[in-house]
Amino acid sequence: MPTLLLQSGRIFDPATELDFVGDVLIDQDSGTIREIGLHLSGDRTIDCSGKLVCPGFVDIHVHFREPGNSAKETIATGSASAVHGGFSTVVVMPNTDPPLDNPAAIAYQYLQAQNAGKARLFPMGCITKGRAGQELAELGLMARGSAGGRFAAVAFTDDGAAVPGSQIMRSAFEYANALDRVIVEHCEDHDLSNGAIMHEGKVSAALGINGYPSAAEELIVMRDIRLAKLAGARFHVSHISAKGAVQLVREAKARKERITAEVSPHHLLLTDEGCRNFDTSFKMNPPLREQSDVDACLEGLLDGTIDCLASDHAPHTSEEKAREFVDAPNGIIGLESNIGVLLTKLVAPGKLPLARFVEAWTSAAVRCLGLDKFGVTGTLKKEGPADVTVLDLEKEWTLDACTFKSKARNCPFNGWALKGAPIHTIVGGVVHDAIGMH
Ligand SMILES: [Zn+2]
Repeated sequence: MPTLLLQSGRIFDPATELDFVGDVLIDQDSGTIREIGLHLSGDRTIDCSGKLVCPGFVDIHVHFREPGNSAKETIATGSASAVHGGFSTVVVMPNTDPPLDNPAAIAYQYLQAQNAGKARLFPMGCITKGRAGQELAELGLMARGSAGGRFAAVAFTDDGAAVPGSQIMRSAFEYANALDRVIVEHCEDHDLSNGAIMHEGKVSAALGINGYPSAAEELIVMRDIRLAKLAGARFHVSHISAKGAVQLVREAKARKERITAEVSPHHLLLTDEGCRNFDTSFKMNPPLREQSDVDACLEGLLDGTIDCLASDHAPHTSEEKAREFVDAPNGIIGLESNIGVLLTKLVAPGKLPLARFVEAWTSAAVRCLGLDKFGVTGTLKKEGPADVTVLDLEKEWTLDACTFKSKARNCPFNGWALKGAPIHTIVGGVVHDAIGMH
């Protein structure tokens, strides 16, 4: 049996409290970790001295646009972008065209990811049919999955939009709870946001652009906290961005309610000031907000109010993003930039401890969606899956979106000077070069 030795790296897994210089021996036939220890030997060796050997990073919020918009991204290019960016597992959102609201559409995602042969991929299913907000989708059938349960939806969301009706959301929480699934909400009161395209504040006023207030996010966070409690169900807040929303989650957690939340790196690093020159790489939803919101999101991530990180990787074509600010689509890509920008801007200056950073991309992300049920552990363990991300914390590089494997280039971090990058992403014992290898 061929074995692969990751030799002399700093083995770093906050969840299992591993932090020592040693070896990880991988059985490539079974795709599992055979041993973690000292002075091991294998058929093939990767020298990891001076490098950080972590559990494979997990991104629970990406958009791969297939079916329907393969000019923006496909499952193949998105999966390649994931492993190039250091992610061994991704969870794709169902707002494709047509949306993923039935078991066949869910199965298609798994099959295309198998064909791509890069990252592990798990789809969420829609909460409502066609993401139209009117009628519940076939949650039971999607949760059961096809192919003997292998092709199952791991959670439910209408991401890109919130489900407007409280009645249908109550039912969704009840079904999801019975099915042992999490409801994931893009929290936005669309009646209040009313088609506005950026955060409502000083910058939107100065630009003369319609903004929408943080209250639109807070209202749906508040509503769903109440509805989830009514159903005894689990609720996960997608891409939290407003300080009031962070406080609502903090208070719900203090009451021991079943809530988790994720934050995207751009909401920890950028504000609406980025919109001042109408650069569409700063246009996304939820929008970039104010410094006090950025500070609250980081504080929430540090104190555990916010559980994990997620990219909200949202590819668009260059033609679409070259439109006027008001007409360009929302969203930015993140898979190949997120590790580097966070290591440089938050971890290196001591604002975010390395252990919290790794945990937020691994075991905490797994816990938010219960991905352990699907064989993803987010930890390094003997006999566990050989999913490993190797980081070079000393690597100095300049972010160049032209080197990305993603089809898209809509990245506000383009041109940033960075220190720290993923160099290998190992998925089930298969080694992929990551962006820091160049
Ligand atoms: Zn969203």
